[in-house]
Amino acid sequence: MRRLAVIITVLILSAWGALQLSRSTTFMIAGEAIARVETNAPVIALTFDDGPSPRFLGDVLTTLNEHGTVATFFLVGQDVVAHPELVTQIADGGHELGNHSYSHPRLVLMSPSRVAAEIETTDQSLRNAGYTGAIPFRPPYGKKLVILPFYLARNERPAIMWDVAPEDDPALAGDADAITDFVLKEARSGSIILLHPMYDSGAATRAALPAILSGLTARGFEFVTVSELLDLRAP
Ligand SMILES: [Zn+2]
Repeated sequence: MRRLAVIITVLILSAWGALQLSRSTTFMIAGEAIARVETNAPVIALTFDDGPSPRFLGDVLTTLNEHGTVATFFLVGQDVVAHPELVTQIADGGHELGNHSYSHPRLVLMSPSRVAAEIETTDQSLRNAGYTGAIPFRPPYGKKLVILPFYLARNERPAIMWDVAPEDDPALAGDADAITDFVLKEARSGSIILLHPMYDSGAATRAALPAILSGLTARGFEFVTVSELLDLRAP
């Protein structure tokens, strides 16, 4: 009986540990997870997840354009197929497009062939939409455990994570001023900021965006794409 209790406890702790690892922004069992880069340059990568959705993309692009800022948009393949014209619109603004999987599943308990298909179909959908630039990859929900890391390692592709994510805190998520304050306090050289401005739920984030861009610019930071940030890594 006692032995059974020990086994059950070990199993529960292992499952809990695996869940924590799958969420970690810095650890991956194989390959590389990048939450921030070490750099001497005052540069920051602003990243937006999900979509593209026609409803709010125009607002976001206008704000970026007004501030002369570039960003990286991690897009969902099935939404790219539904709105290829939005891909052109984003790329024409000088922004980078990333791969955020095809159907936004948790790429955790999934066969290797399905993981590969989720990623490769999305790359292809971006190319079909006419995008020719580099395509960084970010796992949906930031989740990765075993299959995905080995796939990424084999393809020499890092998992792009983040070190500044104000919407993760429910106390900040609906409050534009709180989001702005958090980002201005937490962002530093080499940071990767994660925001979700693409849907109704992103109203506070969209409202915060102009103050985030002006505030970080006033502090001397320059915005770069994820690929540019990786190139600026200190040797
Ligand atoms: Zn997402």
